[in-house]
Amino acid sequence: MISRRKLLKKISALPLLGGVFGGSFLLPEKATASVIPARNLIKELGLRTFINAAGNYTTMTASLMPAEVMETINESSKYYVMLDDVQDAVGEKIASLCRSEAAMVTAGCWSALVLGTAGVLTGKDSKKAALLPFLQGSGMKSEIILQKSHANGYHHALTNTGATLVLIETREQLEESINDQTAMMWFLNREEPQGLIKHSEWLEVAKKHHIPTMNDIAADVPPVENLWKYNEMGYDLVAISGGKALCGPQSAGILMGKKDLIDAARLNAPPRGGNIGRGNKVNKEEILGMYVALETFINRDHSKTWATWEKKVSHIANAVGDIPGIVTETFVPEIANENPTLKISWEKDKFNLTGKLLGEKMRIGTPSIETISWESEDYIRIGVFMLQNGEEKIVAKKLRDTLLKAVI
Ligand SMILES: *Cc1c(COP(=O)(O)O)cnc(C)c1O
Repeated sequence: MISRRKLLKKISALPLLGGVFGGSFLLPEKATASVIPARNLIKELGLRTFINAAGNYTTMTASLMPAEVMETINESSKYYVMLDDVQDAVGEKIASLCRSEAAMVTAGCWSALVLGTAGVLTGKDSKKAALLPFLQGSGMKSEIILQKSHANGYHHALTNTGATLVLIETREQLEESINDQTAMMWFLNREEPQGLIKHSEWLEVAKKHHIPTMNDIAADVPPVENLWKYNEMGYDLVAISGGKALCGPQSAGILMGKKDLIDAARLNAPPRGGNIGRGNKVNKEEILGMYVALETFINRDHSKTWATWEKKVSHIANAVGDIPGIVTETFVPEIANENPTLKISWEKDKFNLTGKLLGEKMRIGTPSIETISWESEDYIRIGVFMLQNGEEKIVAKKLRDTLLKAVI
């Protein structure tokens, strides 16, 4: 490769060319950086893109970031700042938006669960943070209590800290299981209807025994009020995903709650190393992007958004509802991913179809469309809250064509 200096020499040796390029050739590197030709890596790598008629699924990269977030990420990428300064400033803003004492941006909701739990165990003692996940003989408490029905996978995050889980069902068992090793009581918000112990009783028992509480609300906006509801209810820590309905960076999340506990969680998080949280790094671009995503989400006209979702659902339902043997039903999940969702089912003897097969037919070809089609033999579900405007028409058409072709 010819060096810049050599090139300059060559050019100045050619009087005519040197004159043509003039000053513009000598612009500093930074100013010419925008000349980078546009690349489409999705195309270049041959990746399948699709219309997301399913919802916030991590496998499908969950949500698309709005322009405000991307602008924040791009602009902030041009500067060096101290990582702790970004967390301080953004934490304060998020806490005020979500009505908590303090907050931090984590590497997803899972990371919020890990770091929050670590903070509960270590307090603001960095020697203890260096000991995790080895709790034995450390003087740290080691048990986390949760309801059996809340133990469905995500609770595994808590054990990253070395803590052990105590599963209970009744209030009696809860009271009995509390001892001097009890570090925290954990609640999975979306499983509230399944558990015998509801929020108020959970918090009442915890407060009586001075045990910190954490609520996982990962996918539980909308409604927007949930962003502050559980802080105001009295949970010491609340964890939420950033890349689900909030449409922030996929690998970001928020931990909010009591100042002491957030400070303790940050002691277990980057830029500090030599602790279990080091792998939970979030860069400045994503911390700032998360803040702007949250702000954008809160400021949205929520009733208008809801009306748009309903319109999309009814557009798709109307496009297939007149096909004999097809039944459409709109429902809103009681909790988690709460938005109008369409269920399409069929009379089995009238269609050569299973849920999985219809899902595959929607996926194949262009445009490729992802639906929720793995749950049952004779229905699929369509989530519209991740659809871009206008995509409902494409979904409706492909669905109608596919169903008609499957008529026996
Ligand atoms: C998605 C989810 C998580 C994990 O969230 P990430 O942001 O993907 O790390 C944790 N808990 C529950 C209940 C979830 O739905």
